[in-house]
Amino acid sequence: MFDKILIANRGEIALRILRAAKELGIQTVAVHSTADKDAMHVKLADESVCIGPPAARDSYLNIPALLAACEITGAEAIHPGYGFLSENARFAEILAEHNIAFIGPKAEHIRIMGDKIEAKRTAKRLGIPCVPGSEGGVTDDDEAMKIAKEIGFPVLVKAASGGGGRGMKVARTADDLSVALSTARTEAKAAFGDDAVYLEKYLEKPRHIEIQVLGDGRGNAIHLGERDCSLQRRHQKVLEESPSPALNAQQREEIGEIVANAMRELKYSGAGTVEFLYEDGKFYFIEMNTRIQVEHPVTEMITGIDLVVEQIKIAAGSPLTITQKDVNFSGHAIECRVNAEHPATFRPSPGKIAYYHPPGGLGVRVDSAVYQGYTIPSNYDSLVGKLIVHGRNRTEALMRLRRSLDEFIVDGIDTTIPLFRTLVRNTDVQNGDYDIHWLEKFLATGGLD
Ligand code: ADP
Repeated sequence: MFDKILIANRGEIALRILRAAKELGIQTVAVHSTADKDAMHVKLADESVCIGPPAARDSYLNIPALLAACEITGAEAIHPGYGFLSENARFAEILAEHNIAFIGPKAEHIRIMGDKIEAKRTAKRLGIPCVPGSEGGVTDDDEAMKIAKEIGFPVLVKAASGGGGRGMKVARTADDLSVALSTARTEAKAAFGDDAVYLEKYLEKPRHIEIQVLGDGRGNAIHLGERDCSLQRRHQKVLEESPSPALNAQQREEIGEIVANAMRELKYSGAGTVEFLYEDGKFYFIEMNTRIQVEHPVTEMITGIDLVVEQIKIAAGSPLTITQKDVNFSGHAIECRVNAEHPATFRPSPGKIAYYHPPGGLGVRVDSAVYQGYTIPSNYDSLVGKLIVHGRNRTEALMRLRRSLDEFIVDGIDTTIPLFRTLVRNTDVQNGDYDIHWLEKFLATGGLD
């Protein structure tokens, strides 16, 4: 096991990793930008190193500064968290060249899954069901039209290097296709410096359901069930839950085994998430995230398995000690991502937290790095924290969510807590009756009024 690890991240995930390390008896090194000198992860770590000015490219993405911080402190491994360098294959390789362990998968798997066309090809080869679409990239408009007619309209034009929902355009009919292609190419070129696009059947009313996996890089892999992340705004997840209200135990087992088998064949190492759209009883692969995800706590709450502890153990070379039979699902968990944003306009609201009172009690978990008097800087994402509740069933989880949202006080800035208070009282949400477009429609029709 490692003696000391460096956490190359900030905010709630830095604290989350720190907690896992402490429980394993590992020393922690926090890194921070000048904007984060008062951050909680810096206060709680055993050591801390300032790695640069506020802009992420000069600090949290600054690889030479991170290497220097390892050298100074003697850290043997880096946990990248999510975002920043977590899915940068070159970073994983550079660490290997410096004999520093990367707490994440093999560089080759990060690289494959980072290219959406390559990821889809690999998923198909491994027996994972995919959305019907072009076999690879499409460069020619006539060829695109031929493929679109084969799969049937509406179709979705997607950027090969896409992320965060950018470079994605729907063509409802043949007349829309050439405009969709050129807009997607332009957007993709501007956002990712790569104008390669591909086509997919556009699913009208899917749910977003993802499978959590753990692999040890030696061919052992297990799945930890699904998370339903269908409540989204601008392709960003807002609320996540597990189990999905749309699946039964048999469907879970079937898709879970397909994914776990694929990971065994790939000899995947570490934690990962295989994301699907789910419509009319069928799963369609969209992408794989080769890192810990924001919404991982819902899985932890219903399995009792600490995913970050497992990531660290695997990176230190230990084989998986949990077998599929050891994974028992208990009850229901729901997570709300509380952002520093206006609950109706979503305008970012960084600033000083004048008063802070997080909820507590049975089945309530708050993963956050803020505190009373803390100033949320404007340089990074707007996540204030995550409220996660657990109950013996979905009804109990919803009840607990309702009362803990009512207890949650964050004064001095705007937060999205009022939006969640409304959502938890909504009939469709209570019935689990929503798809990936539900929240946008709800907001567009004055949901908060
Ligand atoms: P990104 O990497 O940009 O986030 P994804 O492929 O993960 O792109 O897709 C993001 C979101 O876009 C999905 O969660 C879903 O809401 C929507 N989406 C993606 N593919 C399709 C599709 N074929 N049909 C309908 N919606 C889709």
